[in-house]
Amino acid sequence: MGAFVKIVIASICVGYVAVKWNRPSFDPESLRGARVLVTGASSGIGEQMAYHYARFGAQIVITARREKVLQQVTEKCLSLGAQKALFISGDMSTESDPDKVVDFALEKLGGLDYLVLNHIGVTRFAVWDGDVDHVKWLMKPNFFSYIQMAWRALPSLEKSKGSMVIVSSMAGKLSNPFTAPYCSTKSALNGFFGALSHELAMKKSNVSISLITLGLIDTESALNAVRGIITTPAYPATEAALNIIVTGATRQLELYYPWYTYVMNLFKDWYPPLTNHLIQNALNYDP
Ligand code: NAP
Repeated sequence: MGAFVKIVIASICVGYVAVKWNRPSFDPESLRGARVLVTGASSGIGEQMAYHYARFGAQIVITARREKVLQQVTEKCLSLGAQKALFISGDMSTESDPDKVVDFALEKLGGLDYLVLNHIGVTRFAVWDGDVDHVKWLMKPNFFSYIQMAWRALPSLEKSKGSMVIVSSMAGKLSNPFTAPYCSTKSALNGFFGALSHELAMKKSNVSISLITLGLIDTESALNAVRGIITTPAYPATEAALNIIVTGATRQLELYYPWYTYVMNLFKDWYPPLTNHLIQNALNYDP
């Protein structure tokens, strides 16, 4: 390995450790009684976030489409120590449900301290086949509902000095094959909430926005989608969920989880041929 490459790798490691070291410290007590709305909480990372918030003694409203599953998650949240745990079913690809869900949480909890937007609509992990209607549809749950809910919750978050947590993906920073519609929606999220974050900071708003960049996480839906195609290791959903919660609670602007998403993001502009090579060679694809 050349001296230059060694220096670059060492600099990245030092930078990463410095960033970790300087993280504001997390006080679990700050979440006791906190009023939280988590979307996409019937499975995967959202479900795990609901359980962590419950263990911290928060008051939670969870949402997704499947009412029966939401009920089971709610019961488990109560058994884990949530001060309150309620659910409301909603389809985030509709016009009215995003507002309905926020209004329910505001009413039942008397306001919000955390708005955690995490749901995604179902999409295929496959080569782009020209289905423009699917991209238009996917924008509804994955993007438009996020901005609608954020706007609806903003006045309450302003009052409570609250936080929005936006669960995005490495696919929003660095395009990946087989996920063109999904990448588009996550890039849109990063663009929109990046701009909103500036605007809130410039007008000295009380509200913080945390943008979450995730790599491959071991949720059932993700593993089913990439089985046989991607060989990269998947990181645990429960650990991803805890990192997301800590990032929101400490009002940090960004989280990169796991570590390699941070490095890939740095390299994408420094040396695109390397990231392109890594991305394309992480996939089993034989056209
Ligand atoms: P998941 O297990 O598939 O969960 C998706 C959630 O969204 C479920 O609760 C689902 O519940 C809900 N949902 C689906 N369609 C909906 C709709 N139309 N309206 C309302 N809710 C809907 O996903 P995940 O893997 O945990 O991912 C969670 C977040 O992490 C997403 O934002 C994803 O982009 C991000 N992320 C995940 C990975 C990964 O590898 N897992 C990587 C990068 C980023 P119902 O079916 O009950 O509605």
